[in-house]
Amino acid sequence: MDEQALDKRVSELGERITADYRGKYPVMIGILKGSSVFMADLIRRIPIPMEIDFLKASSYGAEAQSSGNIKLESDLSIDVKDRSILLVEDIVDTGNTLKFLLNRFESMGAKEVKVCSLLDKPDRREQRIVADYIGFEIPNEFVVGYGLDYDQKYRNLPFIGILKREIYE
Ligand code: 5GP
Ligand code: MG
Ligand code: MG
Repeated sequence: MDEQALDKRVSELGERITADYRGKYPVMIGILKGSSVFMADLIRRIPIPMEIDFLKASSYGAEAQSSGNIKLESDLSIDVKDRSILLVEDIVDTGNTLKFLLNRFESMGAKEVKVCSLLDKPDRREQRIVADYIGFEIPNEFVVGYGLDYDQKYRNLPFIGILKREIYE
């Protein structure tokens, strides 16, 4: 996905979210670090009153694979009780991270919790999770750029590309 394709799709998502969230004063929650670039572009295309916050979640274990044991490394600073939340993710893979977060926000008394993910890799899903807003569905390849890393590198690439297998195998 080149810069132009990303820009166009983020605009489209922004328009839909703007229409759906007008009057709801949502809390947009970016999941660090991967969603940082997407979040920054997306919220500038949603010209309605909102609050933003971030949290950091990670799964124990190997880098290129999610383990299912999710750990919250840094929590929100906004009280989400009775709020409409939109979780902003870079990519849904197994779905373990989102499952954990959705359960958590529901138990904290959020009024509504939805998910916007730039990418969706449905082949590897372990949880029955469907994001409400999806930028692009992609095949089972490891991708980097536009916020997504491999070993903390490549996040600053302005496009998204498939990482060559010989780099991580
Ligand atoms: P899940 O819990 O859905 O398996 O994993 C979600 C997280 O795994 C993503 O937020 C992302 O950090 C990481 N991840 C999954 N697939 C990829 C990928 O293709 N590239 C990168 N860079 N990270 C990925
Ligand atoms: Mg992520
Ligand atoms: Mg990562």
